[in-house]
Amino acid sequence: MAVAGEGCWLIDAEGKRYLDGSGGAAVSCLGHSDAHVRSAMTAQIERLSFAHTGFFTSEPAEALAAKLIENAPEGIARVYPVSGGSEAVEAALKLARQYFLEVGEPQRSKIIARRQSYHGNTLGALAAGGNAWRREKYAPLLIECHHIAPCYPYRDQRPDESAEDYGLRAANELEAEIERLGPETVMAFIAEPVVGATAGALAPVPGYFKRIREICDRHGVLLILDEVMCGMGRTGTLFACEQDGIAPDLVTIAKGLGAGYVPIGAMLASQRIHDAIEGGSGAFQHGHTYHAHPLAAAAAHAVLQRLVDDGLVAGVPAKGEALVAALTDRLGSHAHVGDIRGRGLFRGIELVADRETKAPFDPDRKLHVRVKAEAMARGLICYPAGGTIDGRRGDHILLAPPFIISQTEIETLADRVTDAIDAALA
Ligand code: PMP
Repeated sequence: MAVAGEGCWLIDAEGKRYLDGSGGAAVSCLGHSDAHVRSAMTAQIERLSFAHTGFFTSEPAEALAAKLIENAPEGIARVYPVSGGSEAVEAALKLARQYFLEVGEPQRSKIIARRQSYHGNTLGALAAGGNAWRREKYAPLLIECHHIAPCYPYRDQRPDESAEDYGLRAANELEAEIERLGPETVMAFIAEPVVGATAGALAPVPGYFKRIREICDRHGVLLILDEVMCGMGRTGTLFACEQDGIAPDLVTIAKGLGAGYVPIGAMLASQRIHDAIEGGSGAFQHGHTYHAHPLAAAAAHAVLQRLVDDGLVAGVPAKGEALVAALTDRLGSHAHVGDIRGRGLFRGIELVADRETKAPFDPDRKLHVRVKAEAMARGLICYPAGGTIDGRRGDHILLAPPFIISQTEIETLADRVTDAIDAALA
């Protein structure tokens, strides 16, 4: 039982301290006891804790929206705050559908996503996600979604192929799928810029998302980027897609937005989508009781002030490099570490049975579950992932520490994760 949090550390009921090496699931970007966020929350709850959006907007919701837009990718103009990542994805899928009704293309309803992806556990988001294990029990309930390969250079880039050529080949799968389905029927392509929970910080090669953007534009398909895990500075820029030089039509955020202080997510939409709705039926036909909750918005606004105004995101690239250096030092030539990857403070370790052939471990060994247990025994939280992926299996460990992590804590993280891997393999 967790009873307290201090900076990068969680403390359990026995007083044992755990270094939060993954911020839970890439949530706690500020650490666990941020004074600025706590005082913003206290001030808000003393003023106004709730006003239903059917009647009112609120000061913190407006301030949060304005600050997000100020820092958002080009063209993104509106914010729809919700209570978490799955809700943000549901809202994006429904807004995409309503957009095509407003612009007179009612035949567009198909969604394309990637096989190695996670977009949430509610039915629409689960349908979009490509994690076979999470989907299989609920398959009869899921809406029509089609899946292409992820951009996975470690496994799929051919030895005779440049990263750029591989990126184009992987992105062109989207065009082939749109053409197969009939471009006039396709509504949206949804992808995580840097894949989190299913792939351990899998970053795309340069040029991949530029080609994806071109293909979506050519066929009138909306591009939804799911930055629930990789957004809010985790990769070194507030939005991960900034590093790929593209802007989406819709983008979802959560996790780092509330930084663990409140449950909050948001869907951000482009001006073009907003104008189509406003000039059409007038409003997005959606809503939740707690959407744009004043207390949650006040906390998220304070989180953004810490991330942007206090320079925490600006510090992520250098800390990310320090983390990679520490991991490479301990694990770079480890017999069972196939790949150390990611961007910023969003890093993944892929474990393999054989480095030469890249063969994964037997899934029945549940290595990722063992790494998690060994890490917790050593006072480290790291986020494990396994599961069927494209018919292959891989064990990954995701690291996503708070942006306030010190060099000493980075070294501790690298030591403990190395020990946990070795103990799990023993
Ligand atoms: N999208 C992505 C990329 C995620 O990583 C997650 C959560 N792991 C979600 C959506 C769902 O978010 P939530 O758990 O807040 O519903």
